[in-house]
Amino acid sequence: PVKRVTGETVAERLTENARERILPARYLLKDEQGEVVETPAELFERVATAVAAVEEEHGNDADRWAERFEELMTHLEFVPNSPTLMNAGTELGQLSACFVISPDDDLGDIFDVARQAAEIFQSGGGVGYSFSALRPKGDVVQETGGIASGPVSFMSVYDQMCETIKAGGKRRGAQMGMLRADHPDVGRFCVAKREEGRLENFNLSVAATREFYEAVQDDEEYTLYNPRTGEPHEVTEWTARFYNESYAETDPDIVEENVWRDYADEIPGIEAYRGDLLTEGEEMTLPARFVWRLMVDGAWRNGEPGLFLLDQANAEHSFDVDAYPDHRIEATNPCGEQPLEDYEACNLGHVNLSLCVADDPPHWDDFRERWDGDAEAGDDLDAAVDAFLDEAVDFDRLDRIARLGTRFLDDVVTASDFPLDEIEETVGRLRKVGLGVMGFAELLVQLGVRYGSDASVEVARQLMARIDHVATQTSHDLAAERGVFPAWEESKYADPTAHPEWFRRHTGEDPAEWEDGYPIRNHGLTSIAPTGTTSMIADTSAGCEPLYDVVYFKNVGRDVQGAEPLVEFDDYFLRVLEANDVDVEAVRNEALSLLESGAYDGPSSLPIPDELADLFPRARDVDMADHVRVQAAFQEHVDGAVSKTVNVAHDADRERIADAYHLAADLACKGVTVYRSGSRSGQVLSTEPEG
Ligand code: UDP
Repeated sequence: PVKRVTGETVAERLTENARERILPARYLLKDEQGEVVETPAELFERVATAVAAVEEEHGNDADRWAERFEELMTHLEFVPNSPTLMNAGTELGQLSACFVISPDDDLGDIFDVARQAAEIFQSGGGVGYSFSALRPKGDVVQETGGIASGPVSFMSVYDQMCETIKAGGKRRGAQMGMLRADHPDVGRFCVAKREEGRLENFNLSVAATREFYEAVQDDEEYTLYNPRTGEPHEVTEWTARFYNESYAETDPDIVEENVWRDYADEIPGIEAYRGDLLTEGEEMTLPARFVWRLMVDGAWRNGEPGLFLLDQANAEHSFDVDAYPDHRIEATNPCGEQPLEDYEACNLGHVNLSLCVADDPPHWDDFRERWDGDAEAGDDLDAAVDAFLDEAVDFDRLDRIARLGTRFLDDVVTASDFPLDEIEETVGRLRKVGLGVMGFAELLVQLGVRYGSDASVEVARQLMARIDHVATQTSHDLAAERGVFPAWEESKYADPTAHPEWFRRHTGEDPAEWEDGYPIRNHGLTSIAPTGTTSMIADTSAGCEPLYDVVYFKNVGRDVQGAEPLVEFDDYFLRVLEANDVDVEAVRNEALSLLESGAYDGPSSLPIPDELADLFPRARDVDMADHVRVQAAFQEHVDGAVSKTVNVAHDADRERIADAYHLAADLACKGVTVYRSGSRSGQVLSTEPEG
C-alpha cells in the first residue's frame, strides 16, 4: 500500500527544509547585500545552461541540451554535487566536490599544499591528502641539523587552516588525511584523534598495504619504511619514544605521546605486546596486530581511523600502476568515494533511484511467492531478482537518467575552472567523473525489499551493474564524438586483452572484440557519494545508505539552521502514512514531543501500525555484516569507491569492528568506515536532543 510520487515540478516537490533553509542559505545566488536573487527553478536553469554551453564546442545545439539537463534536475531525477549547483554559471566556476593533493617531503611544498587546499575549500570542494611521503617524527633535517616534526604535526597545521577558512567559505571544508600502514608514525596517526577536539576538520584513514593486511591475518611482524630514503626505517630515539614501554616511565615533559603511558590501559589486547617493541638503530618492524589493535580501538572509540585498502584500490584502477607508477593512488577524497591520483579532481552526480520505480510495482514477497510456485523458475536468487526488477523498475527512465547524467558530468569536466594549473592539467588528461545514486533505501521500501536482506544485496548489484554499463556505453559513444581521454593510451582500456576480467566487469564487453582498445571518454565513471545535502534537496534517502531514521535531528551548520539543529522528517515516510490514512499531523506532533524528551526510539515508538513501522528499518536495525554486503555489492560495479557508514550498536565490542574490517576486505571493498552509535558528541545525525 505504498503511494509513490513522480513527475511533479520542483516547486511542488521541494520540502520545506530544502526550499526555506538549505537552498537559500547555500545554493541560491545572492546579491551584494546578501539577498537571495534566484528561485530554485532558476538555479537549475543556471546550472543547465552553464554546463550545456560545452555542447557548442562539440558542434551540438547547446539550447537543446540545456533544456534536457534542466528537466532532469527540475524533476530531481539527477542531482549534481554541491559545488556544481553553487558555482555553475558564476564567476567562481569550480564545479567539483572531490580533490586529492598530497604534500611532498619538503617544507615549502607542505605549505603550498595548505594554500592550495584553502582555495579549494572556498569553492566548496573537499580535499584528501596522503601524508605518507613526509619523513617521520624525529628524522633528520639536513638544512637545519634539526629533527623533523612528522606528518601528524603538519596535519594540525592543515586543521587550523581549514578551521580558519570555514567561516568565509561556501561550506565547511572537509579533509581526509591518510597515512600508509608501513609509515613509521602510523601509531601516532592511529591515536591522533583520540581526544575529542583534535583534528576536528579531518577524517583519518590508515592506508593498508597488502603486506600489512596479510601480516595482520597471519599474526606476523611487518617492515616500516622511511619515505625519505625508501629504505626500512632505522629506529630513532623519537620512534622508540612512542612505541617502547620503557619510555612510559620517563618524565612526561620529555616524552610526549608514549602509547604505553597514555593509552595502554584502555586498549584491550595490547598487553600481548608489552615491553620494548623496537631497538634504536635497527630496522623497524612491528607486530601487525599491535597496529591493528590501535586502529580498531580508535574506530571503536569514535569512528577513526577508518581503513583504506590501498592495494585493492590500485589493483582496480584503470591504469596498471606497476607499468605506470605515476598513476598510483595514495588517497581518497574526504568521504572516501573517490580514490584519486595526486592533483586529480572529480565531479559527482547522482541518479535518484526512488523515482525509477515502475507504475504499480509488484511487492517482492508476492513476487517471490509467485516465482517459487513456478516449477520451471528454479530457486536462484539472482534470476528471481532479475525477473522481479524487470517488472518493478522503470528501466527506460533509469537508463535515460544514467545516460544524460553521464553526458552532463563529462560536460562539467570541461566547464569547470580549477584553482590550480596542476589540477586543470590532471583532470584534463583523465576526465574522471562520478555517477552514483541516491534514494536506494527509498526504492527498496517501494519494492517491499528489506534493506540488508539477500534480495536487497542482489538488487544493489543488478541496478549498479546497469548504471555502470549505461555510463560506460555513454562514455564510449562520447569518445566517438569528442575523442578519448588524453591519457587513454596508458590505460587498461587501451589493452583490454591484458586485463580481461577487469575489462569485462567494467564494460560488459568481450575483451577479444576490442583487441585494439576500447575507446572511452572518461577513465572512471561511477562512484557512490554520501549525498549528505543533495539528497535533502532531492527529498530522498542518502546515497546507498539505509534511512538513518524516519525523523531525526540534523546538524548542517549554523548558516542553514541557526542555533537549533534541523528536525528532518523522512518525507517519504510521511507520504506513506498519508496514503494509508494515518493522521500525519498527530504522528508528527508525537514524534516531536518524543524527540524533545529524549524518549523517541524509532518508528515503532510512534502511534502507527506495526506493518508501516516495519517498512522503515533504520541504519542501526541493519546488521553489521549486511551493511558491508550492500557496500560490497555496489562496489562490484563502481569504478571509484563507495561512501558508506557501517553502523554498529552502541554496545558492540571491538571485535565487531574488526569483523567488519575483515569482511570488507574479503568482499573486495576499497575501504570501510564503522561508526558505533553514540560514540561521538555532536553527531551530524541524531535522535537525541543535544546537551
Ligand atoms: N564535501 C565537502 N564538504 C562538505 C561535504 C562534502 O567538501 O561539507 C565534499 C567531500 O569531498 C565529499 C563530497 O563533497 O566526499 C561529496 O559529499 P556529499 O555527497 O555529501 O555532498 P553534497 O553534494 O550532497 O553536498
